[in-house]
Amino acid sequence: MSAFTTETVLAVRHWTDSLFSFTTTRSKSFRFANGQFTMLGLEDECRPLVRAYSMASPNYDDSLEFFSIKVPDGPLTSRLQHIKVDDPVLVGRKPTGTLVIDNLLPGHTLYLLSTGTGLAPFLSIIRDPDTYERYETVVLVHGCRQVAELAYGERITRDWPNDAFVGENISRQLIYYPTVTREPFRNRGRIDDLITSGRLFKDIDREPLDAEHDRAMLCGSPDMLASLRTVLQDRGFVEGSSHTPGTFVVEKAFVER
Ligand SMILES: Cc1cc2nc3c(=O)[nH]c(=O)nc-3n(C[C@H](O)[C@H](O)[C@H](O)COP(=O)(O)OP(=O)(O)OC[C@H]3O[C@@H](n4cnc5c(N)ncnc54)[C@H](O)[C@@H]3O)c2cc1C
Repeated sequence: MSAFTTETVLAVRHWTDSLFSFTTTRSKSFRFANGQFTMLGLEDECRPLVRAYSMASPNYDDSLEFFSIKVPDGPLTSRLQHIKVDDPVLVGRKPTGTLVIDNLLPGHTLYLLSTGTGLAPFLSIIRDPDTYERYETVVLVHGCRQVAELAYGERITRDWPNDAFVGENISRQLIYYPTVTREPFRNRGRIDDLITSGRLFKDIDREPLDAEHDRAMLCGSPDMLASLRTVLQDRGFVEGSSHTPGTFVVEKAFVER
């Protein structure tokens, strides 16, 4: 049996010159935990050309959604960015990943800290009713350079609070905090600075991070992860994994090649 199923593109949305999203059909046999990633890609001269991608759609949806970068000379995304409705894409049969709530110890507030396409796994986690059963409050922070890169902002603030299944949880329990570094916006600055300065907590009217009852998931660039790991460890947070749950978990949004 092939390691991939061939799915069909259902819709494509371009956010900016460097970001797009697309939905595909979903094989009934493809199961995943919200927050996981799988391999995704295209046939290239009869061989799969695939990369790791987080599922941006929740695991109860009939279709799959992915949120992607466009790397101009990237082997996969230089082609993937041109996909159209009805095109085939390959989806790996074996999802995996550390950003699942079972890898965290119980707590009161869950912080989902992302930059760029690192938002993708959190888009499934914030639409999972289990997330809101385990945590009283969920704080989703999305950091980008420019306002236009804050993809999904309107869906998070306008569409999903009205969702029949999880809308009530989203309205009552989710705090969405977008922030940009390179142009004027209501929230400005890097996530590590917003935490260490206390600005984030002031803005959302909460106490500063406390390893006793706060939990965190990180997904972003290698720099962002290195810096936030230190910020959390300095505050007594302990990294978790599928073997040993902790008070925070980490996944790379991409690797430098
Ligand atoms: C666990 C994991 C999950 C991932 N999930 C996603 C996802 O949901 N969406 C997504 O777009 N990518 C995701 N990636 C990155 C993805 O696997 C590819 O790197 C990306 O699709 C580019 O592929 P490429 O072949 O065009 O270029 P590559 O040769 O893979 O990358 C070329 C260069 O582009 C830069 N780059 C790659 N991906 C990104 C990115 N996402 N953001 C900023 N810079 C990047 C890096 O500097 C890299 O060295 C994930 C990576 C990992 C490890």
